[in-house]
Amino acid sequence: MSESINPFEVALKQLETAAKYLDLDSGYHQILANPKRVLTVSLPVKMDDGSIRVFTGFRSQHNDARGPCKGGIRYHPGVTIDEVKALSMWMTWKCAIADIPYGGGKGGIICDPKHMSVGETERLTRRYAYMISDIIGPLTDIPAPDVYTGGKEMAWIMDTYSIVKGNFVQPEVITGKPLPLGGSLGRNEATGRGLAFTVREAAKKLHINMHDATVSVQGFGNAGQFASKLVQDQGATVIAASDSKGAVFNREGISVDALVKHKQETGSVASFPGSKSISNDELLEMDCTILIPAALENQITDSNAKNIKAKLVAEAANGPTTPEADDILYKNEIMVIPDILANGGGVTVSYFEWLQNLRREYWTEEEVNNRLDKNITKAFLDVYDTHQKFNIDMRKAGNVLAINRVVEAMKLRGIWP
Ligand code: NAD
Repeated sequence: MSESINPFEVALKQLETAAKYLDLDSGYHQILANPKRVLTVSLPVKMDDGSIRVFTGFRSQHNDARGPCKGGIRYHPGVTIDEVKALSMWMTWKCAIADIPYGGGKGGIICDPKHMSVGETERLTRRYAYMISDIIGPLTDIPAPDVYTGGKEMAWIMDTYSIVKGNFVQPEVITGKPLPLGGSLGRNEATGRGLAFTVREAAKKLHINMHDATVSVQGFGNAGQFASKLVQDQGATVIAASDSKGAVFNREGISVDALVKHKQETGSVASFPGSKSISNDELLEMDCTILIPAALENQITDSNAKNIKAKLVAEAANGPTTPEADDILYKNEIMVIPDILANGGGVTVSYFEWLQNLRREYWTEEEVNNRLDKNITKAFLDVYDTHQKFNIDMRKAGNVLAINRVVEAMKLRGIWP
């Protein structure tokens, strides 16, 4: 894995490539190359031992031409301003591809949540929520969970925002909330479910019979587990899976339910009964039909792309493939369903959660899943048509489609004053 790759440089490079296909005006290109607003906040927190520690947080709002900014908040020691800026740009494209009325945002705090108590995490979260409260809001910027944040943090942010902004409950300021606070049914599974819908559609285009398909999954976490379960339900056989503690393989097939249970009981997929232990490289380079990277960034690079044997790579993780690797995969006729399309199910159901909150009404899980299927299937077909029209890979096609939609909105709105 190439740790030194700057994600914002990758994002700019992708923008530049898409701009060429669209013959994009340099003024609009410049607007899109710079987030609309990036806020850096300094966050003093009383730690449990009585000391005060000052953390740094960010919120980047890349573009809001099509609607309020939308994007998660991550807690990680490796968070950088460039990472947050890149992720906010990718959120703009992701929302445009999904054709939901949002722009792109992202937030992050440089911290190590694994070594903080619940009380310290709550105080940090509330301080951050307060410090960004002037730029977020139900109609301006709606955050969500990301790496090492979840329902608990979203509840604290909703509570803090609601208190400081008028002291009435405003669930629509944030998504990914627990169900009793206005979360949506189906949100937990949404990323994996959306990914499985894109795999189903890609399989039709590639003439893959899902009953003959084998699947290798890197990262058996939230997205990876649900994606595995749902492609298995479509008839595919999962033959390899990994997490941070190990990777397992069984050519005859691994029962996803049994592997989930094993991971719940032991904390890892490692030592799953009947399976063979393999390396991360072996998992990625597995002789399989579908590879699902669902863990980290920069996993498929120019050094291992030529060894990828899957016919289809469906990116649950954000940024698992480098631009150089993309070119190699395309040359080798491997279709990549890019992250901004493949994992768009998460933000799509976040949008459904926001709609339900604004209307103070709640949908059944079936309704959520059916609407998700309709949205993601259309998004896949839109990207696929663009890929065919321009004769470019699916990632470039996704970017071209998204940028075109955003620029169209900017042109219609005009540049004020
Ligand atoms: P998660 O923490 O639930 O799961 C991540 C998994 O990856 C864990 O099982 C972890 O052990 C594993 N992992 C970590 N390092 C690894 C390594 N070196 N090799 C193999 N496995 C490793 O997170 P998640 O929510 O499933 O998110 C996974 C990816 O999907 C991230 O890139 C995230 O940004 C992206 N994503 C998630 C969502 C969502 O709604 N969950 C939405 C969009 C994108």
